Amino acid sequence: MKKITLVSPVNQIPFVGPTYLTRLHKLNIFSIKDLLHHYPSRHDDLSIITKIISVKPNQVFTIKAEVVSCQNIFTKNNKKIQEAIIKDQSGSIKAIWFNQIYIPNTLKGGTNVSFSGKVGWFNRKLTLISPQYEVIGFNNNKNLHTGRLVPIYPETSKLSSKWLRSRINWCLENLKTELKKDWLPENIKKNQHLINLGPAINNIHFPDNNQSLELAIKRLEFDEMLLLQLNALQKKKQWQQKNLSHQLIINQKKILKLISDLPFKLTKAQNTCIKEILTDLKKHKPMNRLLQGDVGSGKTIVAAITIYVSYLNGFNSIIMAPTTILANQHYNSLKEIFAKTQIKISLITSSSKQNIDKADILVGTHALLFKKINSQKIGVLVIDEQHRFGVKQRSAFLGVTKKSTPHTLTMTATPIPRTIALTAYADLDMSLLDEMPKGRKPIKTWIVPVKKRLDAYNWIAKEIKKHHTQAFIVYPLIDPSESETLKDIKAATNEFNQLKSIFSHLNLSLLHGKIKDKQKQIIIKKFQKNKTNILVSTPVIEVGIDIPNATIILIESAERFGLAQLHQLRGRVGRSHHSSYCLIFSGSTKEDTLSRLKAMETLNSGLKLAELDLKLRGPGDLYGLKQHGFTNLKLASLTNTQLIKKTKNIAINIIDNYPSLLKKISLESKIETITLN
Ligand code: ADP
Ligand code: MG
Repeated sequence: MKKITLVSPVNQIPFVGPTYLTRLHKLNIFSIKDLLHHYPSRHDDLSIITKIISVKPNQVFTIKAEVVSCQNIFTKNNKKIQEAIIKDQSGSIKAIWFNQIYIPNTLKGGTNVSFSGKVGWFNRKLTLISPQYEVIGFNNNKNLHTGRLVPIYPETSKLSSKWLRSRINWCLENLKTELKKDWLPENIKKNQHLINLGPAINNIHFPDNNQSLELAIKRLEFDEMLLLQLNALQKKKQWQQKNLSHQLIINQKKILKLISDLPFKLTKAQNTCIKEILTDLKKHKPMNRLLQGDVGSGKTIVAAITIYVSYLNGFNSIIMAPTTILANQHYNSLKEIFAKTQIKISLITSSSKQNIDKADILVGTHALLFKKINSQKIGVLVIDEQHRFGVKQRSAFLGVTKKSTPHTLTMTATPIPRTIALTAYADLDMSLLDEMPKGRKPIKTWIVPVKKRLDAYNWIAKEIKKHHTQAFIVYPLIDPSESETLKDIKAATNEFNQLKSIFSHLNLSLLHGKIKDKQKQIIIKKFQKNKTNILVSTPVIEVGIDIPNATIILIESAERFGLAQLHQLRGRVGRSHHSSYCLIFSGSTKEDTLSRLKAMETLNSGLKLAELDLKLRGPGDLYGLKQHGFTNLKLASLTNTQLIKKTKNIAINIIDNYPSLLKKISLESKIETITLN
């Protein structure tokens, strides 16, 4: 027989034929290692052996007994029942099963067997009903299904727990030598009170008791988090080893002049972030910084100053936005900010193709990726809302900067909970705009009960007439994980027609992702000029658009959104001296949904809402976590701050001081645990 190792494909395990192979593949289980890291979702405690005389109805018991007899019985209506009489020193009891005609072949008279199952009444006698059973002494005297903490696996892909137990046990028994390898250094194990890897894998499936299960979980979740941290920190290191396109010099005087020409005074937070960025720009390593700030916190000016440094050094800059609307807006903002300079700005989207060669700044969407850009001339690359770009686009724009890497600034309005920042985003340096420009009033937010819907519409109409302000009405996508579908557009269109009759005296327009870019521009322009009173939209308006005169936002079916996303939508208003309002409608009557939404009424900080979201709903894909390998987390939790901090420090120590160990870890961990990619 071929030598079986942890990387052998699962069909090397006895009794794994094509059918089971397909089922395993469905769960992303390809190698034996994958199977061993398919963890049970819980364990049933069947460890206490009960004497037959002591069993009671409606409870689960484990009994060790000798089979007296066992046979198939065919009932009048052609059903097949298997009936066994079993006995121990205290007495005897009947056990029955249904339609498992092969059982009598195994449970022959005189066999010693362990049974676990529920005791109930059958023909007015106490009976073990469909118990799990296993012949004592069969698996090297190791119980798998009865008389122990029995692993229960998630019921998926037609793989029964019983089948998984026996296959996993086979692997554990036959790979004992391989499982002795452990990539984690002894001193870390000792300091962190962690058990060895082999026993941990054994005990996560077949623990002797609860304590050994806990120790197994502790070790394996540590591994998961540490590998994630090492992965992020290595990415960071790789970035720092890239060749910087151009080293930049800071002309403080000119920068201060630009700032003093602004119609406002920078916030303290903006000043801090600018300082952090300027410090990076002076270095001979490319910057890789994430600028995080609530909507309206003023990220654009920070980006503009970054770009300005590049310009003053004689280099070009690129600023990429995920949508045409946003690219247009950046284009207009930058034109204003740089009005008193000679800077030439070009806009490149699917509908606008201005001159590339003469521009100092290229603003655009992913349409930029299809242009021949002289990447040697790029000093700074700014990417707005990076996680909104697709995987292909992302790798394409990294292609733009292949040979040499410009200073890169990524911006996001998505509040990133601290624990996520410390792990998934550990490869980036962070700057935080945690302060709003002066004079912004908090947005009054209400969850509107269903019966008050009409009142709410009337109130909106009145407000608009009284103050000449404007409103957004937002519909969620039907399936939030998908991009906008025809179904979504149909739903929004239907609602739009109804709203037109409700607000018959006002001007409404509809915006969604399938509207052509040119048309979109016209719709937005009309709204900007207050020629439309209400803009009805799918969440395409979520990112960035700036319409100060809009003071009301109504969000439909809000339960479909995460809190962080609701907060981002809410940020479309509250951008002027007027009071602003956010009305939240929900079709849900579930108490926990409504109390989650209630948080919008009291919390005004995106970060606090995001943290609450993380606790209540888990990370989802909100933070682009898939591409950070977060789907590998099976045991460790993103809310486990202690574990995150601990592993982060250890990872830093390993990266800085033990390069040879790092090599060993990445080699061995590939074999032993989740991959370090
Ligand atoms: P975001 O962080 O959402 O991208 P923007 O950069 O679009 O925010 O800024 C929102 C608005 O606030 C813009 O109209 C901008 O001119 C204005 N703004 C930015 N910084 C300040 C400031 N320090 N004081 C007053 N207004 C500011
Ligand atoms: Mg913005």
